[in-house]
Amino acid sequence: MAGEPQADCLFCKIVSGEVPATVVRETDTTVAFRDINPQAPTHVLVIPKAHYPDAASLAAADPRATADVLREAGSVAAEEKLDETGYRVVFNTGSGAGQTVFHAHAHVLGGRGLNWPPG
Ligand code: C5P
Repeated sequence: MAGEPQADCLFCKIVSGEVPATVVRETDTTVAFRDINPQAPTHVLVIPKAHYPDAASLAAADPRATADVLREAGSVAAEEKLDETGYRVVFNTGSGAGQTVFHAHAHVLGGRGLNWPPG
């Protein structure tokens, strides 16, 4: 069923605790944890606990959880003091755009200058 945990999904395993992660925030609908391969001094992933393969399918099925992911991204940025210097929230969508884990996730990146357009 849509939103249910998937046995072969790495981020579902982080939600369940089966795979360890450095969790920085958690709500009833979201988990935020540090990326294992950080691309900036702060690189945190915010994921919905429910399984959807990407941000668009999450938004179509669960607007509340989508809003929670975005609010939590802002809370991470505030805690990491990124809101003073600026930060970026990225949803890679599709393998051509660099998505490698097909469980919706927001990258929160900051703590260094960020070029535009992104590569
Ligand atoms: O957008 P994309 O799907 O490429 O992002 C997946 C992210 O998940 C990567 O930045 C990767 O470093 C991160 N990751 C992680 N912990 C894992 C596996 C992947 O933080 N155990």
